[in-house]
Amino acid sequence: MTDLTRLTAAALAEKLAAGEVSSVEATQAHLDRIDAVDGALNAFLHVNEHALTAAADIDRRRAAGDALGALAGVPLAIKDVLVTTDMPSTSGSRILEGYMSPFDATVVARARAAGLVAIGKTNMDEFAMGSSTEHSAFGPTRNPWDPTRVPGGSGGGSAAAVAAFEAPLALGSDTGGSIRQPAHVTGTVGMKPTYGGVSRYGSIALASSLDQVGPATRTVLDAGLLHDVIGGHDALDATSLAESWPSFAQAAREGARGDVLKGLRIGVVRELPDSGFQPGVAASFRESLAAMEAQGAEIVEISAPHFEHGVAAYYVLMPAEASSNLARFDSVRFGMRVTPHAAATVEEVMSATRAAGLGEEVKRRIILGTYALSAGYYDAYYGSAQRVRTLIQRDFTNAFAQVDVIATPTASSTAFRFGEMVDDPLAMYLNDATTLPANLAGVPAISIPSGLSDDGLPVGIQFVAPARGDAKLYAVSAALEALLQDKWGGALLDRAPRLGEGA
Ligand code: GLN
Repeated sequence: MTDLTRLTAAALAEKLAAGEVSSVEATQAHLDRIDAVDGALNAFLHVNEHALTAAADIDRRRAAGDALGALAGVPLAIKDVLVTTDMPSTSGSRILEGYMSPFDATVVARARAAGLVAIGKTNMDEFAMGSSTEHSAFGPTRNPWDPTRVPGGSGGGSAAAVAAFEAPLALGSDTGGSIRQPAHVTGTVGMKPTYGGVSRYGSIALASSLDQVGPATRTVLDAGLLHDVIGGHDALDATSLAESWPSFAQAAREGARGDVLKGLRIGVVRELPDSGFQPGVAASFRESLAAMEAQGAEIVEISAPHFEHGVAAYYVLMPAEASSNLARFDSVRFGMRVTPHAAATVEEVMSATRAAGLGEEVKRRIILGTYALSAGYYDAYYGSAQRVRTLIQRDFTNAFAQVDVIATPTASSTAFRFGEMVDDPLAMYLNDATTLPANLAGVPAISIPSGLSDDGLPVGIQFVAPARGDAKLYAVSAALEALLQDKWGGALLDRAPRLGEGA
């Protein structure tokens, strides 16, 4: 029998619909896979003990002839930033250890309603702050390609889970790159939708004006299928866009035929020269561009002069919003409570709890953010950063007057080694230079595998489109994916020396 964990979500869904396999069998296969490899990878913080019950329920409904969604019966891994009623939700933090939410995040509720089987919660940097999962309070996740390297962050658990065939689909959240950069370093697909395109309700907030939830998958079509399930207006999220969206799965299917590349204008940012990237990353990027050019795409140099200030602006705005959002972890309403002595005041309990429950990176950012928002410095830091944000938005507007999409390497290097950057926060922050402009502007961006670097590790290419242009991203990236897979004779993940085995 085929190994069910190796199938794409689309292929597995077809077999489920045809009655060739049951959801119980598919779910069990993934649970077995998690058993076999996750001890070494640590992609999951929690495996759902109710998964087989949910799968059996889908099988029963299918047998009864119920109309089921396209992905019904397919297992789904969920980043621990999203709250769930049947599993703890910690956001990678000690302060929320064991916390049970009274409600499901909208994306989780929609996934369940569509028949997806929640298989577990995935590891992440604490409160989604980081690019490596090394800031998780529950130990780092390992990169399935090489266990000495990071799987990216903050959503390293979701990316590693799909790369190691522990789940065909996963959910992530992206504030500055946390879906896309993990995709880049694990040879998988990660999509950050247009701001407001997917509900943030029940996503434990990091920076509310930047956060977006999105899919982490192995193929572009699978990402489109999952996006179709989770996306669309939600009255529970005040920033949710009211419009209706086209089918992203259909966009991916049509895109895979390749016609979308004819006459497509692809912008390449002049201010991101090859020299800023690891040579193998730059080479892979150039090859992808050449492949699309050969199919009729036009490569146009565009200027985005303010991107270089993106990291500086982001690391003022993001901590500012985070410092405010994280004030809710006050020992009164959620999670951990530390009482330092019998006569402790509320303030002392609060302080002792936050001292014990929050990690170093979280504290660093709360301090940064509080400082930037303080009366004396507000204009100098927060105000300036907001102005830079506007200039970056303008760079995008100007660029999209000339091109249909912008392409960049997703990140400057392949997966780095554990410990290489964790003590150098600035180096870690600079890692986000290519991904965070899309968050600052609220525009959609996707990362798909573009090849291997000279060190044998995966590299991603990022496409960015104007706001509401998500379907265009699915079409274009599906076209490139098809071209590259023809060239490689299969998926990039097929070329990995090991994926979790022997990690
Ligand atoms: N690496 C970025 C940060 O540390 C991205 C975080 C994210 O997207 N959640 O802020």
